[in-house]
Amino acid sequence: MSAKVWLVGAGPGDPELLTLKAVRALREADVVLIDDLVNVAVLEHCPRARVIPVGKRGGCRSTPQAFIHRLMLRYARQGKCVARLKGGDPCIFGRGGEEAQWLRERGVEAELVNGITAGLAGATQCDIPLTLRGVARGVTLVTAHTQDDSQLNWQALAQGGTTLVIYMGVAKLSEIREQLLAGGMATDTPVAMIENASLPQQRECLSTLSAMDEAAFRFQLKSPAILVIGAVAACATQSLWACDLPVMAADQSA
Ligand code: SAH
Repeated sequence: MSAKVWLVGAGPGDPELLTLKAVRALREADVVLIDDLVNVAVLEHCPRARVIPVGKRGGCRSTPQAFIHRLMLRYARQGKCVARLKGGDPCIFGRGGEEAQWLRERGVEAELVNGITAGLAGATQCDIPLTLRGVARGVTLVTAHTQDDSQLNWQALAQGGTTLVIYMGVAKLSEIREQLLAGGMATDTPVAMIENASLPQQRECLSTLSAMDEAAFRFQLKSPAILVIGAVAACATQSLWACDLPVMAADQSA
């Protein structure tokens, strides 16, 4: 007998940003495997479940992914309903697709449940519209961190005209700055850096591309944080720290 594994996005932190479907999965779960970036406040929806922390700080430092796979499989094969809770959305830099496929290949039913990804939540928390008529016709989500050292096409990102939302960028700020400048992005492009988006301890820092790593250093920006790079970042309203930036308004003629 084998029950189901829900691969659930827990959103960026604010428990009110959980989906109703995520809440249903939590209510049904016998076992909840919870990642580091998930706000434990969401566990109020699964009072009877066994909760197992599986983040890198949760005690499975070596081969964590294989360990998590085995745990999910073991509980599912015991007939238990498992909820694997991930920060944000399970399929945005979250391995949700890989885990679903791995489980299905072993005959376990897996269902993915969207969560609000940190990049969207961080921008919205500061009133930044990631797309804006006449200003930004699209948005690109990228991670600054790769396991295989493969390079992003920074020139395409710099010149693509979309808002850039960068995950896992705190340790790579100077590289991001250098690459985007080298790719032709304007030095005064607004940059918003949002730490702990949607949580009570959220902080935001507004700067420009040329000054972003210096600003982040003085602000003591820490992970987890999202970078929003592009003209729309000048719309940020909640900024504690801002340099002189033009006021941005939607182009009503578009
Ligand atoms: N699946 C997640 C992303 C996991 S990658 C999602 O969809 O949001 C981890 C990165 O996400 C962090 O390094 C950080 O860049 C970002 N992140 C996650 N939670 C965040 C939060 N509350 N505030 C700001 N950034 C966050």
